[in-house]
Amino acid sequence: MGILNDFLVFKEQNTFEPRQILCLRCGSSDIIQKGARIGNHRFQCKSCGKYFTDSLGFEGRRSAPEYITVDVELVYVGLSIRKTVKVLHSIYCNVGRSTIHRWADQYGHMINEYLDGITPLVGEEWRTDEIYMKIRGKRKYLFAMLDSETRYWIAKQVAIHKGTDDVRPMFKQARDITGKIPSKLISDGASNFAETHKDE
Ligand SMILES: [Zn+2]
Repeated sequence: MGILNDFLVFKEQNTFEPRQILCLRCGSSDIIQKGARIGNHRFQCKSCGKYFTDSLGFEGRRSAPEYITVDVELVYVGLSIRKTVKVLHSIYCNVGRSTIHRWADQYGHMINEYLDGITPLVGEEWRTDEIYMKIRGKRKYLFAMLDSETRYWIAKQVAIHKGTDDVRPMFKQARDITGKIPSKLISDGASNFAETHKDE
């Protein structure tokens, strides 16, 4: 259901499986959904009859989770704050720029912090690549280290010269993040990668 919701569920139960809703009073899993009041999903327990709402990750917030979710996801995929305001207003969420900033900051920060703490499962073969680009008008090379199988971007380093001798920071970063050294390293670019790999 989107990045933020997936994340909140994963954070709660440590798996991406659909969330198991339990009755807040008796703990029964025999639950029926009674529609969604804006923002909160309403449920009724078939065992004890209790009505309750579920607002995982949005507890204590006055604004509807749907609005916050839409906001965070739009900002996360790169929509400008100005356009995000427009989208939210079009679905009757009349919040200002500062609120949008705050939501995006809080939840975006939470997601990043969480992702930082994850050790990615990468394979035994990595590859390095170099991309030439301009950063604020200056020519730079971006070196990247990727897992061959998943294309997961393990580490990166920006350098001014293509043949930079010191790509050690990227290797160190890669080892810190994954906790391992690959058995095979394919270098599409400069030969210095292979040599640094040997050194490590
Ligand atoms: Zn119950």
